[in-house]
Amino acid sequence: MKITTKHNLKDFVYPISQGGYYSEFISCKTCEGKGTISVNNTEKIIRCPDCCGSGGHKEWKADKWYVCKESYGQIGRVIVEIYDEKYYDGKKYYDGKKEYKYMLDSTGIGTLWAEDSLFASVGDAQTECDKKNLLNSSKDKRPSYVQKGGSNAT
Ligand SMILES: [Zn+2]
Repeated sequence: MKITTKHNLKDFVYPISQGGYYSEFISCKTCEGKGTISVNNTEKIIRCPDCCGSGGHKEWKADKWYVCKESYGQIGRVIVEIYDEKYYDGKKYYDGKKEYKYMLDSTGIGTLWAEDSLFASVGDAQTECDKKNLLNSSKDKRPSYVQKGGSNAT
């Protein structure tokens, strides 16, 4: 059996990582966060039909990917786990699952890095972060009930 890994023992690599998730309150565009609107610019005030009076909604955002420059280190351990395509452990199939994990001298025994999170140069690591961040920002995470067309409220 021949095992090929992207990185080798003693390679120096830059890991990339992502911060957690956080929520941000997005003000309703229809009522500008007030929760109420006036009907046809008259004195009559009604609850905003778009946000149901809440003034907006919470949006989950992912923190940006970044290069962990302080974790730049040398690979001291490579863990490879490969399952046979037909392997069944009595509960589930593993479908030939492959997992490559790495330990760095800089982050110690408590941290396992996935293969695709390690890069030989800081430039390559940054390029991957930029790619992932662009992908995240283009995702519209608004709940579907907020997206309604044909609003004639002003
Ligand atoms: Zn509203």
